[in-house]
Amino acid sequence: MALTIQVLGSAAGGGFPQWNCNCPQCLGVRAGTPGFTARTQSSIAVSGDGNSFALINASPDIRAQILANPRLQPGRARRDSAIAGVVLIDSQIDHVTGLLLLRESPQALELYCTARVHEDLTHHFPVIPMLQHYCGVNWHPIAANGSAFQVQGVEGVSFAAVDLQSKAPPYSPHRECPRPGDNIGLVIAGAASGRQIFYAPGLGRIDPPVSAAMAGSHVLLVDGTCWTDDELVRGGFGVQSARDMGHLPQSGAGGLLEMLAPYSDKRRILIHINNTNPILHETGAERAQLAATGIEVAYDGQQIEV
Ligand SMILES: [Zn+2]
Ligand SMILES: [Zn+2]
Repeated sequence: MALTIQVLGSAAGGGFPQWNCNCPQCLGVRAGTPGFTARTQSSIAVSGDGNSFALINASPDIRAQILANPRLQPGRARRDSAIAGVVLIDSQIDHVTGLLLLRESPQALELYCTARVHEDLTHHFPVIPMLQHYCGVNWHPIAANGSAFQVQGVEGVSFAAVDLQSKAPPYSPHRECPRPGDNIGLVIAGAASGRQIFYAPGLGRIDPPVSAAMAGSHVLLVDGTCWTDDELVRGGFGVQSARDMGHLPQSGAGGLLEMLAPYSDKRRILIHINNTNPILHETGAERAQLAATGIEVAYDGQQIEV
């Protein structure tokens, strides 16, 4: 069976619409205006056999995401889940808070993350010590050096972490001086087919290890956070640029679209899209520009066969 990626949540932190946002796009979703589709916060599930899944990031929307994807709750026992393990790409709130919502697990959560992320979640945002009072956590350290690892119980899939140049979370003492392992991208490969996907919802720079991971992959599922670097500032929604937050904007010189241009032979899909990003306007000019270059926009419930 093909390597399958189930998109659980395609929005950046805050989701779409964001609870307190009155940008034209969030208003569009609330009003039911055609051309705007609600999205939950960033997470995917990966399977090699359609039966057991690795959850990549645990978003605060995980309960709704499992409800919307019945394959994740097969009901083989009184308490059951198809999620065999959770892999974290960083320790951002929108990627890890869902761990707390999995506390009813009858077994310890099998958690795959770097030592840096484990440190954040032990000392600075202590989700792991909290969970010791519930299901517990069984930590599997992963190295951000490209070496392959497996998620136990997820058959036919291998993973490798690529260190990314991005930012540590705002609560981290290393926000402005991130260390190796604070942010990773994942190369996810089907063992039988050898086909692979590169997943990096937070991409601050395309350096040689990232280029190599992209060149060897068949599908690129990458950072769609902001269209322009000053999108939040110009719209009056914040003081930080996309690059300040560790995200390459899509448009402009040195932007992600320019970086993706050499890979037009691959399927290229944007994910982790902020609610202010105009590509969420499905009939808008920016979305048409993407379509003209063959770049797709991920949506909740999308199934990607690699
Ligand atoms: Zn995020
Ligand atoms: Zn908004």
